[in-house]
Amino acid sequence: MGTVEPVPTARAARTRRGVTAVLMAAVCGAATALGVLGATGRAVLVWDRVVGRPIPIVVEMPGAETGPPCPLDARYVDEPPDRLPPDALAAWQRLRSAAEQDGVRLCLNDGKRSREQQARQFAEAVQDFGSAELASRYVLQPDESMHVVGIAVDVQPLASAAWVEEHGQALGWCRRYENEPWHFEFDATYPTRGCPALLPSATGS
Ligand SMILES: [Zn+2]
Repeated sequence: MGTVEPVPTARAARTRRGVTAVLMAAVCGAATALGVLGATGRAVLVWDRVVGRPIPIVVEMPGAETGPPCPLDARYVDEPPDRLPPDALAAWQRLRSAAEQDGVRLCLNDGKRSREQQARQFAEAVQDFGSAELASRYVLQPDESMHVVGIAVDVQPLASAAWVEEHGQALGWCRRYENEPWHFEFDATYPTRGCPALLPSATGS
C-alpha cells in the first residue's frame, strides 16, 4: 500500500484542466451527470448523488479507509469496492467472480482514494522519511496516483495477486510495476491491446 504510479507532467496537467472544466459545468448547473476526459484519456463518469449539492468529481470521491480483515491473511483488509468508478467497479466484480470460479479469493487491500486521502498518505510518508524528497520516492502526490483516478487496485495476498497477473489481462486488469506485484490498473483496451511493459516502480525511483 502507499505507493502509486508516475504520471508525466503533461498528463497531470490535462487532468487538472479536465477537473476545472467539470467544476465550471457544475457551477453553471449544466447537468447532474457529466463526462470528463480523465488522466487515462478515457471518459470518467461524474455524478451527483444528492440533488442540490455540489457534484463530487471522481478525484474528490474518497474510498474506504479500511475494511474487514482479509479471510486469507489478516495482515490485509478487504475493502468495499463501491467507490470505484462504475466501469472499474464492474470490471473488478468480473475479475473477482472469475477468480472465485478458479477457487481463488481476491482481497481488495486498497482501491479508491480521494485526492485528500492520497495527500494524507504523502504527508505521513514525509513524517516517516523525514523529507518530501525522500517521501516522493515511495508515495505519489495526489495528481499522480491512479488510485485517485479510481482505476487502481491493490490485491492481496500475493498468491491471489499472482492469479490476477496470470488471468487479469483478458478482463482489463494489468500489473504495471516490477516492485508492486499487488498493484493492478484497469483499462478497457487491455483485453485487445495487451498489457504494457512493466515499469521498475511507480515513482520512478
Ligand atoms: Zn496500488
